Amino acid sequence: QAQRAYNFNAGPSALPFAVLEKAQQELVNFQGTGMSVMELSHRSATYEQVHNEAIASLKELMNIPEDYHVLFLQGGASTQFATIPMNFLAQGKKAGYIMTGSWSEKAHKEAKMLGETYVVASTKETNYNRIPALDELKYEDNTAYVHLTSNNTIFGTEWFTFPDTGDLPLIADMSSDILSHPIDVSKFAMIYAGAQKNLGPSGVTVVILRPDMLERANANVPTMFRYDTHVKNNSLYNTPPTFGIYMLSLVLEWAKEQGGLEALAKMNKEKAALIYDVIDQSEGFYRGHAEKDSRSLMNITFRLASEELEKKFLAEAKEAGFVGLNGHRSVGGCRASIYNAVPYESCKVLSEFMKDFMKKNG
Ligand code: PMP
Repeated sequence: QAQRAYNFNAGPSALPFAVLEKAQQELVNFQGTGMSVMELSHRSATYEQVHNEAIASLKELMNIPEDYHVLFLQGGASTQFATIPMNFLAQGKKAGYIMTGSWSEKAHKEAKMLGETYVVASTKETNYNRIPALDELKYEDNTAYVHLTSNNTIFGTEWFTFPDTGDLPLIADMSSDILSHPIDVSKFAMIYAGAQKNLGPSGVTVVILRPDMLERANANVPTMFRYDTHVKNNSLYNTPPTFGIYMLSLVLEWAKEQGGLEALAKMNKEKAALIYDVIDQSEGFYRGHAEKDSRSLMNITFRLASEELEKKFLAEAKEAGFVGLNGHRSVGGCRASIYNAVPYESCKVLSEFMKDFMKKNG
């Protein structure tokens, strides 16, 4: 592991070292087939087993109700921004969007092109530095579904208590915090996530769908964009991203070996505390973007006193072997993404680096 970088990339991001090693061992001859997973037919029994094991592992880890569908799609979470309204925004109904950052905005933008929408609540006024309180959420009549972004990768805020929307289907983009802590999946009509943060490499999008949503779906949606196409065919209607799904299955095995989501959540809290504590004890040298009770355990966003000092911090961090600490190009500053696979040790080393930099420049 000596040559592994301190990788704080926002996504694609660090993968567990053990997973990479396993994939390397199995690469050229998977289970005695004489070929890699990439070279197997997606219709072969060997591949099918990988595929179904990945579904079963996800169901087990997230405690997904038995009747929910788990799909492996392509096009990233961004494609779901469009396919959700294509399927679930019926004529005469409105889709409610909770706006907590750039990804909520992008999701909302797609829905607006396809039908009527409204904003349930927004924290844009304070540059998305917090999650709205539950009593700020206002639902309108005739709502087809409510959409939220569970973790705001760019602004560094995260939902810890989800709204109870009753009969209104709740749909969540969990791209950047899926698998980071236990959640009650039965509260959601649909959960989706691009894989490239906590699940595996980019190229796979996971969709978890409550079965009654299929009955609500619009007719006349083209085949590849219909959820029922993928449900009926177990995500094998066309060629799925087989290698990505295989990597996902390895990551899920690894997550189980860590003790599941409870254990990962505990570790994630400890990792985040290492860095938030430095911010909090810095007397304003480091300025966290998010309000304390909305702080993400996955993406830690902070600024320094001036852009000049930020540049210096980032340059020295790079020199010291840290990767990916630049804030998103739309907000600037710094961001440390500490997904499941980022080791405690990397967070520890970063927190020491931050203290050291403050001593020299404070
Ligand atoms: N939603 C969130 C919360 C994200 O962080 C991202 C990507 N960083 C996306 C959606 C877009 O995902 P993709 O690139 O897979 O389309």
